[in-house]
Amino acid sequence: MKSYFEKYSIEVSDEKIVLFEKYYNLLLEYNKKFNLTAITEREEVIIKHFVDSLLGVDNIVGNKLIDIGSGGGFPAIPIKVFKPDIMLIMLDSTGKKCEFLNTVCKELEFKSAKAICGRAEELSRTAEYRESFDVCTARAVARLNTLCEYTLPFVKVGGYFVAYKGDAEEEITEAQNAIKILGGKIEKIDNFELEGAKRQIIVIKKIKSTPDKYPRGNGKERKKPL
Ligand code: SAM
Repeated sequence: MKSYFEKYSIEVSDEKIVLFEKYYNLLLEYNKKFNLTAITEREEVIIKHFVDSLLGVDNIVGNKLIDIGSGGGFPAIPIKVFKPDIMLIMLDSTGKKCEFLNTVCKELEFKSAKAICGRAEELSRTAEYRESFDVCTARAVARLNTLCEYTLPFVKVGGYFVAYKGDAEEEITEAQNAIKILGGKIEKIDNFELEGAKRQIIVIKKIKSTPDKYPRGNGKERKKPL
């Protein structure tokens, strides 16, 4: 497994490889009943899930991270392997996926990591979660304008939303209004190529508090994006 990471200049210790192997086995085992990923072939999982999840790891600063729509655990679990001291919350609206994610946390003996079952647009309205994270991540959950309304309310002023995307030029243009209204500003966009596919990591800084009326709820984030 190590050589795949090295191919992308990612240095991984033997201890981390043990964790990735355990995770891969759990993913395959639970995928039979929980439909966690369409990708199961070993090399593909390592590159398209593990390496891909680590493309944004250098942008994970501070000690509280929330990952929205974690599904099978991407990018959250590989980030936690690399940043074991971070306090991690994984949010997903599907109970079975959260059950799987909590099993991974237990089996990999993660400290301060758990999955919560719920919807982003509801959880970010609670006092405990609103504007209380240093970083929020999300991959393959919604278009960027909708996604910003799901994610930016969780981020502290001064913190970051790190969006994992494919070729997102059109989405970035389309999301300018949402980013501004919700208190964000694009700080940088990192471009990568993974097995011939364009990958973009969009780093959005929270520069102002999100107005109380967002997220709007009732599916408006998706049906009528800002
Ligand atoms: N992030 C993972 C990945 O990249 O492999 C999973 C992506 S999967 C296509 C999208 C996930 O987001 C699903 O597991 C779904 O249940 C969850 N999801 C979608 N909308 C959500 C919302 N509003 N709040 C919480 N979870 C949501």
